[in-house]
Amino acid sequence: MLFQSAPTIPSRIVRWRNGLGLILLATLGPAFLVGASSVQIDANFPGGNIVVERMEGDTVFLHQDLRETAGDWFYWCFRVRGAAGRTLQFQFTKSPVIGARGPAHSRDGGRTWQWLGTNIVTGQSFTHHFPADATEDFFSLAMPYTERNWRIFLARVGASPALAVETLCQSPHGRDVELARLGQIHRPPAHRVALTARHHACEMMMNYALEGIIEAVLAEDETGRWLREHVEFLIVPFMDKDGVEEGLQGKNRLPHDPNRDYQGMPHYPSVKTLKQRLPAWSERKLRFALDLHCPYIRGAGSERIHFVGSPYPVQWARARRLCDLLARGQTGPLPYYPEDNIPYGKSWNTVAEPKMFGRWAAGLPGVDFATTIELPYATVRGVEVNAATARAFGHDLARAMREYLLTRPTR
Ligand SMILES: [Zn+2]
Repeated sequence: MLFQSAPTIPSRIVRWRNGLGLILLATLGPAFLVGASSVQIDANFPGGNIVVERMEGDTVFLHQDLRETAGDWFYWCFRVRGAAGRTLQFQFTKSPVIGARGPAHSRDGGRTWQWLGTNIVTGQSFTHHFPADATEDFFSLAMPYTERNWRIFLARVGASPALAVETLCQSPHGRDVELARLGQIHRPPAHRVALTARHHACEMMMNYALEGIIEAVLAEDETGRWLREHVEFLIVPFMDKDGVEEGLQGKNRLPHDPNRDYQGMPHYPSVKTLKQRLPAWSERKLRFALDLHCPYIRGAGSERIHFVGSPYPVQWARARRLCDLLARGQTGPLPYYPEDNIPYGKSWNTVAEPKMFGRWAAGLPGVDFATTIELPYATVRGVEVNAATARAFGHDLARAMREYLLTRPTR
């Protein structure tokens, strides 16, 4: 079966007549388009996001859905059915939303994705030929990762005494916000590490890296055995669970950006619960907290893996030690160079108050450091980001974490 749950956002139905006199129907929010051609385009599945404006001949005019978003952003993901044998052009009408490797495409219901490349891209449009056996095709900014992908991953790694999947809290729309405990979860560990993802709903490529980290901790090798013996990880894979499942941008989310929710009384239950849970769980053994993000859609600064510099020099020096170990020990294809980091005070990294998870966690008693790491959507210094290369980066990160903790000076 394909996606089982539907978005909870109500749809608005729009009807009009196109140039050929055909009646078209569409919903705004999750969009739906029916022409006499029987082509159907919709976003009625987890992670779906599109507004279909109209179809003229073989060209579909559409744009990203910015609902619950302040300003502009670039996430979109839609499904096409009834297009077998046709060649359609998808013309985006608002701001640029096609990334460095063109759109990502899935023919297995969003289980796996491939980049279609830029040869099919002209300006803000792409053209796709649907083979005669096409039934359901998904297209997106990148490679969406929702609760369904997480469940597939958990089934793949299987049950382990070193992995417990629990619930952090309920989301405002009644979904479970998952919390995974990993590694040394049966005895008091020497070290604790916290990992969070999807404070910004659309930043999904980091979830594949997170899979890699979890794989590495569970692996039957030196790194895995050591991490399982000495480290307990607390992982929240979807901080904005509703935003992820409902296909929101998440960045600059209204009424409040989830990663600007750590100062004062939190708006989101996941932030509120984590602010209680993490200090209680830490017991002064929390060595570091990493918040996983993806950067802007394109541009040199957005096509490099980078850590976001901390305003606290001692913490940033410790984070830099992890960065150096990561750079030196890399075996995966995605290149990381510490000089690609964005130090505090440079570019957009100037927020002073502890509004963000990384800044808030930096204030927890005894923590070595807390920071944000960004993995590009499509390209790192010319190398392709996909599920496999992002997972390999997660393995690299896990090895660096072990090296950091092994060689950590006692304070
Ligand atoms: Zn982000």
